[in-house]
Amino acid sequence: MSELRLLGPAEIRDLAELTGVTPTKKLGQNFVIDANTVRRIVRVAEVEAGDTVVEIGPGLGSLTLGLLEAGAAVIAVEIDGRLAEQLPVTVAQLAADATRRLTVIHQDALTVTSLPADPARLVANLPYNVSVPVLLHFLEHFPSLRSGVVMVQAEVGHRIAAGPGSKVYGAPSVKAAWYGTWRVAGTVSRQIFWPVPNVDSVLVGFERHERAGDESLRKRTFALVDAAFQQRRKTLRQSLSSVFGDPASAEAALEAAGIASSLRGEQLRLDDFVRLASGS
Ligand code: SAM
Repeated sequence: MSELRLLGPAEIRDLAELTGVTPTKKLGQNFVIDANTVRRIVRVAEVEAGDTVVEIGPGLGSLTLGLLEAGAAVIAVEIDGRLAEQLPVTVAQLAADATRRLTVIHQDALTVTSLPADPARLVANLPYNVSVPVLLHFLEHFPSLRSGVVMVQAEVGHRIAAGPGSKVYGAPSVKAAWYGTWRVAGTVSRQIFWPVPNVDSVLVGFERHERAGDESLRKRTFALVDAAFQQRRKTLRQSLSSVFGDPASAEAALEAAGIASSLRGEQLRLDDFVRLASGS
């Protein structure tokens, strides 16, 4: 479809006033006021006409309009009732031809387990306080998701995309790796938000890969990951004793999986955790 008028600072302020929304930190409400950034996200996500995209936290619609401009069908999940109610009105005004491609769901994204259509991509400027749980929740519940790009707090983005050996490698990195391969796809100035947040942001992209195992193996793997990183300074023999019952049992399980019990969680890759979970 042809170029739309996307939301700038004046439109965002007008819409906030119209809906009575004073952005809250609790809901991570920092709205994008820059059309170039919106188009960049859509481009990096390689959104094409006809794609079904799920957007979490559409807010006042900055990114939603960019996704619709690219010809996507958008399912937008928004927790704030005033924003969820206003979004179809905004789209009807600025992109009348695209209204039938928009579905708005007024719900906490963390509780969404079914959608009206199977989304192929996830594209979102995620609420910062729940970005990792929301991402993992959607990857768990929507196997149709093949790829996506999300804007998150820089620190979180680098952690998600990190590998063993990196200082920021942690439980989110290993869990994210269960689902796919991740990359930091660019930095974003804090000036493109209203209100301006006190942290930097990055774009993080993912491509889903073949399943590393079934649901029960995933749960066992994630339990080991949580235990290993909860006490990241401890050796695996100690940190995993809560999962295996005691340090000696943890040591035996580690040995059976060919992993030295003197290592720490941050030294293991996803496949090490999976091997250990497979034997447990
Ligand atoms: N996408 C918009 C943009 O780029 O301007 C807004 C992004 S803002 C960072 C995050 C949005 O997520 C807000 O609209 C907020 O109300 C919404 N939100 C926060 N927590 C949520 C949750 N648990 N489920 C769904 N939406 C949520």
